[in-house]
Amino acid sequence: MQVKKGSQVTVCQECGQVFRLEVGSIQSQPLAEGIDDYGIVCPKCRHFAHSFYINNRLKALQKQDATRQERRQYKHEFVKFQHQMEKRLHRYANPG
Ligand SMILES: [Zn+2]
Repeated sequence: MQVKKGSQVTVCQECGQVFRLEVGSIQSQPLAEGIDDYGIVCPKCRHFAHSFYINNRLKALQKQDATRQERRQYKHEFVKFQHQMEKRLHRYANPG
């Protein structure tokens, strides 16, 4: 995720702290094998607000020298992967 310095302000849903989004605000934590959960971390209470998921396939497409086609492919697969993960996690949260 690209964040322009000082361009965006967000509110922590946990403690209500208002803070500016910076490159360091976005952190990742491993979710499952080959899958990282990216989110915004509150500088006050360290609450992690989920933003998006990235897998190894997306990481590979994200390389610096990606072609235009790879970039387009990335966007396409990124969206698809978010839906996949939401479905998967929803199933875990609501068995049956
Ligand atoms: Zn907070």
